[in-house]
Amino acid sequence: MNKQDFFSYTKKQFEQVARYLDLKPAIFNKLKTPNRIIKFQISIKMDNGRIKTFEGYRCQHNNCLGPYKGGIRFSPVVNEKGVEALAMLMTWKCSLANLPFGGAKGGIKVDPFNLSPRELEGLSRGYVRKLFSWIGPNKDIPAPDINTNSQIMSWMADEYIKKANPKTSNSKIKALGAFTGKPIDIWGIRGRTEATGYGGAIILKELAAKLNLKPKKTTLAIQGFGNVGYHFADFADKLGYKLLAVSEIYGGIKVSQGLNPQQTMECKQKKGEIIGCYCVGNICDLGLGEKIDNQQILETDVDILIPAAVEGVINKQNAHKIKAKYIIEMANGPITPQAEKILEKNCVTIVPDILANAGGVIVSYFEWLQSQQNTKWKKEQTLNEVSKILKKSFNRVWDLARKEKISLRKAAYILAVQGVVKAMK
Ligand code: NAD
Repeated sequence: MNKQDFFSYTKKQFEQVARYLDLKPAIFNKLKTPNRIIKFQISIKMDNGRIKTFEGYRCQHNNCLGPYKGGIRFSPVVNEKGVEALAMLMTWKCSLANLPFGGAKGGIKVDPFNLSPRELEGLSRGYVRKLFSWIGPNKDIPAPDINTNSQIMSWMADEYIKKANPKTSNSKIKALGAFTGKPIDIWGIRGRTEATGYGGAIILKELAAKLNLKPKKTTLAIQGFGNVGYHFADFADKLGYKLLAVSEIYGGIKVSQGLNPQQTMECKQKKGEIIGCYCVGNICDLGLGEKIDNQQILETDVDILIPAAVEGVINKQNAHKIKAKYIIEMANGPITPQAEKILEKNCVTIVPDILANAGGVIVSYFEWLQSQQNTKWKKEQTLNEVSKILKKSFNRVWDLARKEKISLRKAAYILAVQGVVKAMK
């Protein structure tokens, strides 16, 4: 799916809810368009001595609830419409979780795997120099997203501090709140790495409780075995769910007896790919599983499907082939509206992204709080608080959906948009 499609259906989802809520034109127009899109060029000296220029973006959608918040992607497919759609999703996500943040998203059009560490550092620092006046702990707080990580956040935070030049150690700590997803030793937070996957597993637990699904008898397939997919798998495994298949961009694996995510990850790290990592219990053996492709993973015969990779993977071409009765959207926007119609007709229940993958931004809020209040949180405390917020959000969404006989997505959007509108008023 191209970014234009993703952009138009993110807007469409909002427009449908706006009609349902009968929003006044002034409010509708304000929320339909972002407050600001910043587009710039970053030039860096490459290792071969040549200067190369990259396109950078930051979209700040809405800040009625608080400073803008949202990740930064490094990817060759980053573009203006894509970040605009993702920024809007962040506004709804923060509102639904009751966080004092608005929504933003940014990125650089680059394949980071083609850069040396020195070039990557130069690009990350260049991004901050260009954005400096628009970001900060009380303005806009970026975080990692696809292909960015705590190392990149530490370069960015360091560049920000150099320019902000805080005079006391306390004001330096506060200024470090300009970025989240940082390493622990520079005011990162314990639990951020696993937060989104952990949050997804909490949502899985709540959903299973409503539907009376028993973990041991419930099978899962996960597309994407990166940060989100792996940690979701790890926590779901600890809860007793049976994970039948996982995949990465180049393909995936299916293990009918149920695979062990920790062993699979260890094997992947050694081999460089998951293909062949058919791990049951503590044993990984080629005879225990089979290779599948990225379409087959979506069509696996499981109870719950978890897309945890990229946008638009479930579309009108493959929606009718989905066998799972429940989908938990861990990626942002993995289901197109045409696909959603088909899935609804087939009675598939979808837990929407703005609810299911909010664990990351919730922990980012705690990370920001740490530096604003000069306190440090323990991992158990962090995960405990995430769990409380997500359980509450899930139940609000579930109850509204049941009461109004609407989808979980519509209920989540109604609550999220209502939260922003209330703040605007
Ligand atoms: P990641 O880069 O760590 O992992 C992405 C995974 O998806 C990898 O396994 C990769 O091989 C796979 N993948 C990439 N392109 C694919 C494709 N076209 N088809 C199939 N698989 C593909 O990224 P992540 O942090 O795990 O994020 C995954 C998704 O979750 C993204 O949509 C992201 O926006 C969303 N998300 C992430 C967080 C977070 O805290 N990391 C929070 C909220 C939402």
